[in-house]
Amino acid sequence: MTEKAVHAKSKIDSIPAIWPISEFRFNETETLVVEGSTCMSGKHYSHAELARIKELADQGLGATAIARILNNRSQGGVQGQLARLGYVHPQRSSIAKARRSRQLDAKQHRQFCDFLRENIHRAPPIELMRFWNEQAPRFHHPKVSIDMVDYWIDKMRIRLSPAEIAVNTFYQQAKRQRYSRRSETARATFDSKAENRRRMMRVRRDEVIRKRSKLEIRLCPECHENWPLTEEFYRAKRDAQSNKIYFEAKGCILCANQTRRRISMWRALGKSPALIRQLLKSEERSRRNAKAQADILAAKELRAELVKRRKKDPQRTCLDCHEVWPMTEDFWKLATNGSYPRFCRFCDSRYRREQKRAKVDGRSTEMIRAARKSFLAQALDENRRARRKQLEQQANRDLLRQRNGGSRICSICNTHWPLTEDYWIFEPADGPRAGKLSRVYCRCCSHDKDARRNKNRRR
Ligand SMILES: [Zn+2]
Ligand SMILES: [Zn+2]
Ligand SMILES: [Zn+2]
Repeated sequence: MTEKAVHAKSKIDSIPAIWPISEFRFNETETLVVEGSTCMSGKHYSHAELARIKELADQGLGATAIARILNNRSQGGVQGQLARLGYVHPQRSSIAKARRSRQLDAKQHRQFCDFLRENIHRAPPIELMRFWNEQAPRFHHPKVSIDMVDYWIDKMRIRLSPAEIAVNTFYQQAKRQRYSRRSETARATFDSKAENRRRMMRVRRDEVIRKRSKLEIRLCPECHENWPLTEEFYRAKRDAQSNKIYFEAKGCILCANQTRRRISMWRALGKSPALIRQLLKSEERSRRNAKAQADILAAKELRAELVKRRKKDPQRTCLDCHEVWPMTEDFWKLATNGSYPRFCRFCDSRYRREQKRAKVDGRSTEMIRAARKSFLAQALDENRRARRKQLEQQANRDLLRQRNGGSRICSICNTHWPLTEDYWIFEPADGPRAGKLSRVYCRCCSHDKDARRNKNRRR
């Protein structure tokens, strides 16, 4: 390995690997003299052609006219030749200089062709150009244009077919890298543009609100800003049959656009549609979770406020979060019959949210429902125990007073209960067995038994 090659390798190693760059090679050993020393981008000009150009240029013709006469030459190509021959207009001299700076000598040209030939399978032409130009100053090579790269790839017939490109992992990788590089800069531009647009929309909103007093306002669930519910601020769809307008519920037009941009960016980065859906879903969920958390915090503040103002409001404990909330609709969602539920508004919406998510994900909702059922069962148990304790205290008082004739021991709970309707269940007074016990155990125990039986029946 020559010293230069060693240099090339170490330099190559330090470049972030897009494709296995260590396999890049500069052929340093071979030198070959290429006919003439005029390797420009484009097809070679023969001596006869150059002579003809010179002749025509001497007659005062420009590049366009000469190209038309030569028939198979482009205006740009002829102009390049004119520049080389010194005919070019002084104002064009910068172009001529730029072209001259891209001229390769015979050895360099040979190296360039070898470079293309050896690496065409490892990277697309645009990356080959970029790599060559990055390395060029090190080796005192001229830089090359993409036209030159393309021209020589086609000339040597080494271009990969679309089918080959489709299965070439280096090409696919390079494509993804290129997209991500592009999307980074694009995102910055998009972001600043979007911010400007939002500012303009806010101004516009104030105008609209000032003009029209009767306006429906909708809170965008994404940016949490209030926007008038018009086609200017929310994307609308008109139903062809009913001629009704429906507004997109996901967010305002700004947020909708932002989401669309992000989706196209993800797509450009090569993320699969399934993965993109997944990403959007999890974003949506964390957004909703955050909102639920904020709602609970706000509720706690409201409760503190209420407690400060009037102390003796009725309260109720939520079976799930065990928070004690005032009994108002701010904290509880009343049933249609106006009764209070056992779970607060916030636990209730979380419960429904969890179930919905499980259904969307195809998971079983059994666990979620079981947790809630066990909360309810526990609460019922506690209720029953409290009721029994209350009855026992009452019974003790009654027994002490000896107001009633006798007592009886329950065969299940072994408690002394006075023999009255409060503690025992009697046969109906108009029946044939009036005055007799209809059950051999106490009222509490028969309630428990009924509850158990009902529970089993529901299963
Ligand atoms: Zn929004
Ligand atoms: Zn709760
Ligand atoms: Zn009993």
